[in-house]
Amino acid sequence: MGRKFFVGGNWKCNGTSEEVKKIVSTLNAAEVPSQDVVEVVVSPPFVFLPLVKSTLRSDFHVAAQNCWVKKGGAYTGEVSAEMLVNLDIPWVILGHSERRALLGESNEFVGDKVAYALAQGLKVIACIGETLEQREAGSTVDVVAAQTKAIAAKISDWTNVVLAYEPVWAIGTGRSPLLLRLRKKWLETNVSPQVAASTRIIYGGSVNGGNCKELAGQPDVDGFLVGGASLKPEFIDIIKSAE
Ligand code: PGA
Repeated sequence: MGRKFFVGGNWKCNGTSEEVKKIVSTLNAAEVPSQDVVEVVVSPPFVFLPLVKSTLRSDFHVAAQNCWVKKGGAYTGEVSAEMLVNLDIPWVILGHSERRALLGESNEFVGDKVAYALAQGLKVIACIGETLEQREAGSTVDVVAAQTKAIAAKISDWTNVVLAYEPVWAIGTGRSPLLLRLRKKWLETNVSPQVAASTRIIYGGSVNGGNCKELAGQPDVDGFLVGGASLKPEFIDIIKSAE
């Protein structure tokens, strides 16, 4: 089964409305491979979602950067999956390492979020990845397997999931790993060979215009989740690396 190349742009907590308009107009003017070749999804902060959604070209899609773990209600400061559905936002990023580390999101909490968002009809970019400490201790495989298992325990249908492997030490540092034989190890053993064959696993961590071609050529890399470089014109080059 073919896995379409996926390029996500995670804008994180950046931008003013003027800057957002500028990024959107750069994206709108770009010549990129067709939707048959690459799926492009950009993820602005919540407050800019309606602006981006209404001005972005229709072959690119939008994602929220988070949503609440269950139905909305008395959860000050949160945004529910239902609200995203209501605004016609098709995607959500869940379990990003910054939220795991800075806001204490556990593996189980992320698993619950993924399950709830999928049940509401959202597509999910689910993030996993080890810290430098864990990597140096030799526990990369265990850490990532535990993160994946916590998601696998809560869902049965992976059709609308893209798994983003983002080693924490590679995020925003300019360092990126060159070993990415992920599919067999984690999805095959933790879920099933069928899910391993059909689910896209994308890479995140210091992807830029200069290294995207080489990274895209790595085995088992089905695309990227891009942070810093997704705010810059080089994001276009990263989309083009799908070809
Ligand atoms: P980076 O971030 O590309 O700036 O390293 C990636 C991410 O955190 O999604």
